[in-house]
Amino acid sequence: MTAIPDFPVGTSTAVSGLESTFVDEVGALAVPWQGAEVPDPRLLVLNDELARTLGLDVAALRSDDGVAVLAGAAVPAGAKPVAMAYAGHQFGGFSPLLGDGRALLLGELVSDDARRTDLHLKGSGPTPFSRGGDGFAVVGPMLREYLVSEAMHALGIPTTRALSVVATGRKVYRNGIEPGAVLARVAASHLRVGTFEFAVRQRGLLRSLADYAIARHYPELAELPEEGEGNRYLAFFAAVVEAQAALVAQWMLVGFVHGVMNTDNTTISGETIDYGPCAFLDTFDPSAVFSSIDQSGRYAFGNQPAVLKWNLARFAETLLTLVDSNPNDAIAAVTAVLDSFDERYESHFTTGMAAKLGLAGATVERPLVDDLLTLAGEYGADWTGLFRALADELRSGATSSEGAVPREHLAPWLERWRAALGAAGRDPREAADAMDRVNPLYIPRNHQVDAALRAATSGDLAPFDTLLEVVTHPFAPRDEWAEFASPAPRSFSETFRTFCGT
Ligand code: AMP
Ligand code: MG
Repeated sequence: MTAIPDFPVGTSTAVSGLESTFVDEVGALAVPWQGAEVPDPRLLVLNDELARTLGLDVAALRSDDGVAVLAGAAVPAGAKPVAMAYAGHQFGGFSPLLGDGRALLLGELVSDDARRTDLHLKGSGPTPFSRGGDGFAVVGPMLREYLVSEAMHALGIPTTRALSVVATGRKVYRNGIEPGAVLARVAASHLRVGTFEFAVRQRGLLRSLADYAIARHYPELAELPEEGEGNRYLAFFAAVVEAQAALVAQWMLVGFVHGVMNTDNTTISGETIDYGPCAFLDTFDPSAVFSSIDQSGRYAFGNQPAVLKWNLARFAETLLTLVDSNPNDAIAAVTAVLDSFDERYESHFTTGMAAKLGLAGATVERPLVDDLLTLAGEYGADWTGLFRALADELRSGATSSEGAVPREHLAPWLERWRAALGAAGRDPREAADAMDRVNPLYIPRNHQVDAALRAATSGDLAPFDTLLEVVTHPFAPRDEWAEFASPAPRSFSETFRTFCGT
């Protein structure tokens, strides 16, 4: 299983200085591998700003040599590319072996401030983990991950980031023939709950994986004792619970629906990962599901915190033997930490809601939040537009009506909200400006994403480039972007479905 196939892959110096601590320290979780041949590589989009932050040479990346690396057709000199092994619970059912079926970890970049990031390719060809899949990816879904992950980053939400998308010139068979593509992305790491679910079933791997993850993401815990009270593995679990509670709260605040919250798509770092059939809410609806494969609504918008907690329970199960040699004590210890999820989530959510309502730093009464959510749900308010309209209300005393709750029904709530602002000593104008700094005006609206990806797939990248520019500048209004702030026509929203990122 570990032999490198004889792909005609070259080496390149366009990317240098990749390190391989993952392979060196927990190499049993990886298979050395290389990308497939790329018939006709063409760079569709490169994230210059990100490349520079990573210390990469933009001109070198744009050269033929650089594009070959970004497409998986050339290996950076000195790199040890691998396909990573992991397991995972998918829609509740356990798969003992998933792994990178169409991805490669090229290696790790270390920035000047000593931050380590994985450089990873998606759609680079079959691997020993491909199972029934072809190992490839296509232009639409890869540009979709690029766009949405960069939008999430611009919103201040922890996420993997997109470095490039290269069209490969390969014909890929999906519902018809689609143009092939490779996404290059960077992440704090690609360690997932599923990585632990795989490691715990292998002899002698778990402790080294946990220590590797701690050193990489929670180094302050590395000094804690291995055993007994206050041991590092229980603290590690608590740190991941905290990071993930904070993350899912941010998703809920911004109206993001991940779509495939399987344990293999739940990171140890607390970054959002694997943008497949994800979408942003237009109208507020806890039961919103966009993914065509989520037929039972397991990953519906409002279920996300509960599903996250379920995934963290699967993570806890993998750590039991490290936490305490007595199984009952181990279960009691991780259960207490797992139970703290609700409080942690609630605290992040209400803190975020306070900021969205111009009450940053003050306590917002839960009924005030809940009643707004109820009104938003009842009247199908546009989740993004609602908070901008509320800020306008503070400025001018008149909410714009588009996508908002009808004024006569909102009025009693507005009065309570104004009272809360008054009690917290907030000046309405200042509160409105503060709200506009945290409530986006521009999100990747499904109808616009759809149109941009359709155009890109048939060769016109202009709508994608514009939309990318818009969603990576989410807060400050620009006249020429008026159409991007509007909700989709209802006829679009009612039938819109996303398809798994294949
Ligand atoms: P995802 O839904 O992208 O998180 O992928 C779930 C699993 O399916 C991972 O193990 C992927 O590597 C694998 N996978 C998805 N698409 C393909 C494909 N076209 N070929 C091979 N493996 C795939
Ligand atoms: Mg995945």
